[in-house]
Amino acid sequence: MADPSTDYWLAPSEPPSFTPHNLTGTSPCVLLCDHASNRVPQRLKALGLPASELERHIAWDIGARGVALQLSQLLDAPLLMSGYSRLVIDCNRPLSSPGSITGTSDGTLIPANQELTAQERAERAAVFFHPYHDAIRALLDQRQAEGRPTVLVSVHSFTGQFGGKSRPWHVGLAYHRDRSVGPALIEALRRDPMLCVGDNEPYAVDDASDYAIPVHGERRELPCALVEIRQDLLAHESGQHLWAGRLAEALRTVLPNILTPSSSRIAS
Ligand SMILES: [Zn+2]
Repeated sequence: MADPSTDYWLAPSEPPSFTPHNLTGTSPCVLLCDHASNRVPQRLKALGLPASELERHIAWDIGARGVALQLSQLLDAPLLMSGYSRLVIDCNRPLSSPGSITGTSDGTLIPANQELTAQERAERAAVFFHPYHDAIRALLDQRQAEGRPTVLVSVHSFTGQFGGKSRPWHVGLAYHRDRSVGPALIEALRRDPMLCVGDNEPYAVDDASDYAIPVHGERRELPCALVEIRQDLLAHESGQHLWAGRLAEALRTVLPNILTPSSSRIAS
């Protein structure tokens, strides 16, 4: 979606609001990374936050971009990544959600997000939310038109400490209406007895607080799930590499079973 306010919001030197990667990849998996970046457009002046706050998990999913890129390469899968911080606008929340442009996150007040007008909200959505989701929609439409099966997997990371509590899971699968992907991946990952795998932990998917899986996956009746990896395990490139390999192997194990029933469902 071309929007006249994009030129106002993004200087020529700034990256686009989303990045498509390997869209012609041959895998049935389509990967999303909604919280890939902690970048804030220059016009928003770091949202009034010190740089240290923008390095925290409140601004992005630490390590998720590296995992998603390597997973895309290992599977030869298309990947779409958002280009700006979720504190600008959260690409995995409905626009009607209070968390869409949040005023506070994990105890931090976001100065530039206070008392926004409807116009300001609409402009952020037009520049940083809709183009990303329009691109996902276009890719999924194209694959459907070509009769190609699609399994939608969204890659996220979560903070190991929240609300004063430690989270024990190394990785979690979140899912809701579609039960073909999440539980199968949990079973595959649990074959490694050293891994603590969350089943809809630390988060589950729901319509009020999620966007990509309900809208692009469930509404299209595509097999779909969201994977969450604990951020401290992704702090370095070696961890991102390890987890991309682990997820690629788990996906390769479960894809044949997932695709058989879903292909016939799409065809009917
Ligand atoms: Zn996330």
